[in-house]
Amino acid sequence: MSRATLLILGGAMEARGLADAAVARFGDALDVETSLAGRTRQPRKPAGRVRVGGFGGAAGLAAYLEARAVDLLIDATHPFARRMPWNALAAAKTAGVPRLRVERPPWSPGPQDRWIEADDAADALAKAAACGRRLFVTLGAQEAARFAGRPDLEVTVRLIETDGAPAERPGFRLIAARGPFEPAAEEALLTHLGAEVLVTKNSGGAATAGKLAAARALGLPVVMIRRPPPVPPPRVETPAAALDWLASRLAERF
Ligand code: NAP
Repeated sequence: MSRATLLILGGAMEARGLADAAVARFGDALDVETSLAGRTRQPRKPAGRVRVGGFGGAAGLAAYLEARAVDLLIDATHPFARRMPWNALAAAKTAGVPRLRVERPPWSPGPQDRWIEADDAADALAKAAACGRRLFVTLGAQEAARFAGRPDLEVTVRLIETDGAPAERPGFRLIAARGPFEPAAEEALLTHLGAEVLVTKNSGGAATAGKLAAARALGLPVVMIRRPPPVPPPRVETPAAALDWLASRLAERF
């Protein structure tokens, strides 16, 4: 029986758990490689092999799939990754490789929530500034850069790593921290900062939902950047469902 090769496009937190579970479940029947973009300086390493860096667009990825004789492709990039899901779709088609998208469900507001939806960071900044002067922002370094040029606001940005983020100055502070974040600690942080509005994007998932519960408890508005358009199916929401898809594809193959 020949060994099948799986390429996981990492970026979302589900990717690592998926690689670990695929190695554990399929053992020698499956060669698992995770590809990382290389934006995080100290990524947590998944089981199996790891490669780092872009492929050179959809054509580069298709060439990689063919050169490495990849049998199955799982796109576990972040819900806000704009290019890679589409590159994966196109490359899989070109190379004739089955592809699956794993994307956790978005958050949705409850009756107690005060959400204001935004299209992107620029829109979120305009909408947040209309709500208050002290902002707590949980966005990536590039998106956060938009919030650095507003001396009229008091902005605190929380990121996983501060690499690539604008320098701190009076009225613009950075916090480097990796979740999960508990609601009670988030409420204490928002209170300590005197935050008047939370600015975030609809990443979904339990690990970073504590800030939403905290904003709800404090009655704060949340400016929520909506997700980019979804890629076509097949799509699943959890690593467990992705493992089932893998098992079915492997059963078809042998
Ligand atoms: P993107 O727009 O989808 O990707 C930009 C480029 O980065 C891609 O065209 C590709 O370069 C390279 N790339 C992305 N994911 C890759 C992977 N898994 N392996 C190898 N190359 C990859 O994504 P982004 O918003 O710039 O984010 C970059 C990475 O950070 C992604 O893996 C994403 O999942 C992760 N991330 C993003 C966010 C977010 O909010 N955007 C949040 C957390 C994590 P080539 O075209 O040269 O192949």
